[in-house]
Amino acid sequence: MAVAAAIEIQNVTKSFGKAEQSVRAVDQVSLAISQNEFFTLLGPSGCGKTTLLRLIAGFEFPNEGDILLNGTSIVAMPPFKRPINTVFQSYALFPHLSVVENITFGIKMLGWTKAEIAQRGSEMLQLVRMEDMRNRKIDQISGGQQQRVALARALAPRPQVLLLDEPLSALDFKLRKEMQIELKRLQSETGITFIFVTHDQEEALTMSDRIAVMSKGRVLQVGSPRDIYDAPTNRFVADFIGESNFLQGSVTTATETRAEIALNSGGNLTATVANSKKGQSVTIVLRPEHAKLTTHSSGQLNGAIADIIYFGTDTHFQIALANGESFTLRQQNKPGFQDRHKVGDTIGILIEPGAARVIAD
Ligand code: ATP
Repeated sequence: MAVAAAIEIQNVTKSFGKAEQSVRAVDQVSLAISQNEFFTLLGPSGCGKTTLLRLIAGFEFPNEGDILLNGTSIVAMPPFKRPINTVFQSYALFPHLSVVENITFGIKMLGWTKAEIAQRGSEMLQLVRMEDMRNRKIDQISGGQQQRVALARALAPRPQVLLLDEPLSALDFKLRKEMQIELKRLQSETGITFIFVTHDQEEALTMSDRIAVMSKGRVLQVGSPRDIYDAPTNRFVADFIGESNFLQGSVTTATETRAEIALNSGGNLTATVANSKKGQSVTIVLRPEHAKLTTHSSGQLNGAIADIIYFGTDTHFQIALANGESFTLRQQNKPGFQDRHKVGDTIGILIEPGAARVIAD
């Protein structure tokens, strides 16, 4: 028998407000999140990520649809009865309690025995590597350490699912990077299903087993970080994750999976596509690092360099194509290498085989 998903969201809609002023914060979303998965909800501010998380936690009730935990509906179950815990952006720790008292606060409320609380407290301190700070007060530890305490507190009652709502956004860049690794470690050591909310695409790409990209209450694409980055299915996803070039063209010949495209900017490309027809107008997406500079007229595309921006790790070339479209090309910098190109040069662009994809607008 197939194992039930840890969390299954079936056609869930959640609206706020009345009649014509109502906002569909979550709009007919269906998702199946596997056991032990690090699953991320990614999208811009206001796309409905937090509302979806609150529906799973039980702080909101759906207008339509169902939410299942291990195959059983939980929509009628109050939040405190669900074996699901949440780590919020603000850690909401008790300043008058010590580190270990904060960690064990929840399990004390749940009626665990003194011996169980003491043992679990020590296990959690060890898990988040804070044994030597067990008796410190919250204002005597750093922001990153407070984040660890909040995580340990949420993990203490052994939830089946941990919800994390932008838990790293209050931390500075370096600490955030450290905590990303720490969160991955905690997830794989505990084997708990993590559902993580972020608007930071890099955070989502580096930490997740799978990502759901959301926009305006809807899920636009679900896949592994590599799927989402390498094979975005629509323009929003291609634009939101990483940098993308969009080129217009029309199909000259097509097979089931590939098509020859005549570009509006001149030149031809072979692109990956599902079900295209001869003569059809299409949008192609191309990542800046999947193209190389070459001499004028020897690439698939040709243009003039409009700008050169040095980024340390790489250099970005903004290229104006003949029809006015702009193309960004990224070239990795090598030690001692001095690029000879300058603004105004006419150049060709070579596209790596397999890099061009047709997407839905
Ligand atoms: P952010 O990253 O800014 O937190 P989000 O993606 O988590 O954004 P939500 O907080 O889920 O988005 O909000 C989705 C939409 O629903 C927004 O338009 C928001 O204004 C609206 N919304 C959320 N909660 C409520 C509420 N309690 N009452 C009315 N509207 C709400």
